[in-house]
Amino acid sequence: VDHELDYPASPDQMDWSLHYPNYFPAKDGQDLKQVEWADVGCGFGGLLMALAPQFPDTVMLGMEIRVSVTQYVADRIAHARQAAIVAPEGAEEKKPGGFQNVSVIRANSMKHMPNFFAKGQLSKIFFLFPDPHFKVRKQKARIVTTALLAEYAFVLRPGGILYTVTDVKDLHEWMDHHLRKHPSFEYIPTEELADDPILLAAKTATEEGRKVERNGGDKWVACFRRLPDPEE
Ligand code: SAM
Repeated sequence: VDHELDYPASPDQMDWSLHYPNYFPAKDGQDLKQVEWADVGCGFGGLLMALAPQFPDTVMLGMEIRVSVTQYVADRIAHARQAAIVAPEGAEEKKPGGFQNVSVIRANSMKHMPNFFAKGQLSKIFFLFPDPHFKVRKQKARIVTTALLAEYAFVLRPGGILYTVTDVKDLHEWMDHHLRKHPSFEYIPTEELADDPILLAAKTATEEGRKVERNGGDKWVACFRRLPDPEE
């Protein structure tokens, strides 16, 4: 239930220093970073654990509604940070190493994206193997609906990319249909992203994606670019 969820009244109220102590507050001479990538319904965190060391200058966040799963990912990140602490050769003092750019929050992404992120803050949003909600009367619970797309479009900057991957064909068709008809999004032919290491990770690095692979299931991909808003 909602009253147990912790979320800021607005993005400027969010204290990121607990999540990314290396980047918040900005050190002297450092530009203030922002969270730029959001993995919505991140599950056990496989995507961001794969991407964080590949893109060490990008601050990324997993959002997960289940308490125990969020805690699992937080522990996983803490361990990875601990293991990544490095002592420069000859130096006594150890320095933080990798995984400083990744964190996780417990959040309901269907309600609170604009509480966490300002307009145009994000450059990537991932929806990877979201819950299918098969029954027709449950479809409005899906993570992609016309109303919710307006919120995702708000936090995603023009040129930013929204990735969807699923093993459920019906859900793929649903997400694809709603995204294609939304004026803020433009379909990116999957061939154009053939060499994109991020799409590769999105398809293969999450726990659900690995499970689908083990079971020899199909994966359906649909990616969309955020279009600029029409001139007013
Ligand atoms: N993306 C992960 C993967 O590919 O392994 C997890 C996929 S799992 C089938 C879907 C996840 O979305 C679950 O962990 C679920 O708790 C989470 N979830 C569902 N609704 C959510 C919401 N409204 N906000 C945040 N997370 C949500």
